[in-house]
Amino acid sequence: MVLDAHLDTPLVLDRPGFDISARHDPMHDYAQIDLPRMREGGLDGGFWVIYTPQGDLTPQGYEDALAHAWHRNSVIDKMMTDHADDFMPATTADDAVTIVAQGKHVVYKSIENAYPLGMDITRLDAFYDAGVRMVGLVHMTNNQFADSSTDPDGPKWNGLSPLGEALIQRANELGMIVDMSHAHDVALAQAIDLSTTPVILSHSGAGHLYEHPRNVGDALLLDLAASGGVIHINSLSAYLKDLDTDPARGAALSALFKQLHENPLKSEADTKAFLKARRDIDTKYPPDFASFDDVMAHIYHAHELMGAAHIGIGLDWDGGGGVDGLQDITGLPNITLAMREAGFSDQDIGAMWSKNLLRVLRYVEDARNLP
Ligand SMILES: [Zn+2]
Repeated sequence: MVLDAHLDTPLVLDRPGFDISARHDPMHDYAQIDLPRMREGGLDGGFWVIYTPQGDLTPQGYEDALAHAWHRNSVIDKMMTDHADDFMPATTADDAVTIVAQGKHVVYKSIENAYPLGMDITRLDAFYDAGVRMVGLVHMTNNQFADSSTDPDGPKWNGLSPLGEALIQRANELGMIVDMSHAHDVALAQAIDLSTTPVILSHSGAGHLYEHPRNVGDALLLDLAASGGVIHINSLSAYLKDLDTDPARGAALSALFKQLHENPLKSEADTKAFLKARRDIDTKYPPDFASFDDVMAHIYHAHELMGAAHIGIGLDWDGGGGVDGLQDITGLPNITLAMREAGFSDQDIGAMWSKNLLRVLRYVEDARNLP
């Protein structure tokens, strides 16, 4: 069974004209997942992400973000009702086994950036009821719960805020996986100590190979492993090597995505215009990508450091992932081939592709304990 811990495809699902049952081209349509390629690449499913961009830490900001998050949740639900023969909702570890046995695809839900919860962590309960089984506290900048690894102003809380500690406690009580990708190292260390269940990194890398705030150094990875946690390896090129691109590329992409956030696509013509604008940026300022071997190096390093029980895959599809030789999920079988050549046992390979993630999910289910 092949599960990815972090699928950003819900960002693509509500593009007018997007059809998940049709095949797309990663460099032309900027879509890395659809049913034809899930079948070809052998991806059974994973955690489909309710992502909310970070905004102002104000009552209005929280309210807007909450509406945004519920919209993203409804987009995932719509995919499952529109394609009920292909996708099924999953909330327990056993569900994945049952769903795959029926030849269908597994849809767990997760939150990336808990910002929409505002100052009221009991809002997490409604997301649990909607099927969410993983919560990532923070994104690119500090929020009310935790310091981000990439905030240009540096840490604000020295790790977790008091509300962030309460959120982890609530996630433990509800039976949700705590995801510390994007969090500052200090917040990650605190979460490992505080959480009564193993913490995961849903899409991160090894700092030993490339020093970037989104990657995690060996000492912390060993703490994560000692607590039973799992790092799922990312394929976002900028976290894997120094990219050789025109600085204007980043600015142009940021401007395009800001525009998209402010003016969501309303028609197929809007979608076409957006995709063309994106291709134009690639033509004017060509992208640079890390390589398939760079991704494998992070897998091998984590395997050597932590053992097979603590690694998984969270390649950040439709969220910035993709490298030369692995631009979409059709390349996933090459990861298995490379692991075989590197001497991984079938048992280790199976653990990495899904068993470790399901072990953590089973652990949090069993630990569910509402006061
Ligand atoms: Zn992310």
